[in-house]
Amino acid sequence: MSSTWHILGAGSLGSLWACRLARAGKAVRLILRDDERVAAYEAAGGLTLIEQDQAHTHAIPAQTATGAGPIHRLLVACKAYDAHKAVAPLLPRLAPNAELILLQNGLGSQDEVAALVPHARCIFASSTEGAFRQADWQVVFAGHGFNWLGDPARPSTPGWLDELEDAGIPHQWTPDILTRLWRKLALNCAINPLTVLHECRNGGLSEHHCEVATLCVELAELLRRCGQPQAADGLAEEVERVIQATAANYSSMYQDVRQGRRTEIHYLLGHACRIAARHGCELPHLERLHRRLVEYLNAHGLPSD
Ligand code: NAP
Repeated sequence: MSSTWHILGAGSLGSLWACRLARAGKAVRLILRDDERVAAYEAAGGLTLIEQDQAHTHAIPAQTATGAGPIHRLLVACKAYDAHKAVAPLLPRLAPNAELILLQNGLGSQDEVAALVPHARCIFASSTEGAFRQADWQVVFAGHGFNWLGDPARPSTPGWLDELEDAGIPHQWTPDILTRLWRKLALNCAINPLTVLHECRNGGLSEHHCEVATLCVELAELLRRCGQPQAADGLAEEVERVIQATAANYSSMYQDVRQGRRTEIHYLLGHACRIAARHGCELPHLERLHRRLVEYLNAHGLPSD
């Protein structure tokens, strides 16, 4: 069954998905924060996707959560800390067999959303695509990547994967989505907080090799303790490879802090520390890193949850 793609949040990733689906002729509708955002969006005349210096504007219809009509398919494209709060007002509109696709980085927000919508299907995504907002309603497609999709509760593939194919959204369905999300979370925990604390590019971490290696040992132990041994395999080597391959880049957490934006710490390092505590697993270096990051964020006037 083909149905409308409702996209909650027209930020970087939400706009990237919305524009590609719309240009492939799929029915797309944006759900924005409030009437003021809808008015600002309509005044701009649509969403603009900038790809290889070419800009194309797509006049995708937009509404707020209180708009009319049932929602069968919802792409949740908010930050992890906003996801469940943004989904809550949509509950009366969700069809009984609704499917939600959750694009959030890290772990924990997916469960918060799933708890709100026990009758809907929640599909988790892990994306390595890169996009950023150049201005409101203008998104730059900055890095080609891939999207892994999966449902830890049900292995059957959804009926709309061919629509992603039509839209040129690179993807694969995987039964191991939790392993992928845990691996990405572990890579993030080993790199991003240290780039914030040492105020450096990813490559700067080659000067802190021992600190990174110690964190990798603890992260691998955590992954094994929480039933993700595959995510632990070769973690330290991959972390080193990522540091080398992205040496000139600033991590997403570093960029958030520099720009005074709230980070997703609660769903990344914070989640790792909470799960470790739940398993009675003592990880002193990871916990110390978390405390240092919280202190750093507080000292810079940023939320640490
Ligand atoms: P973003 O650019 O900040 O976009 C988030 C959007 O959510 C904003 O447009 C915001 O609206 C909207 N929003 C928040 N609360 C809302 C509500 N109640 N109703 C409607 N809209 C609401 O974030 P992003 O970079 O796309 O990231 C989204 C997720 O994808 C994050 O978990 C991130 O880690 C992950 N991710 C991002 C990338 C990337 O390259 N950007 C890559 C991989 C993964 P306003 O515009 O009104 O503030």
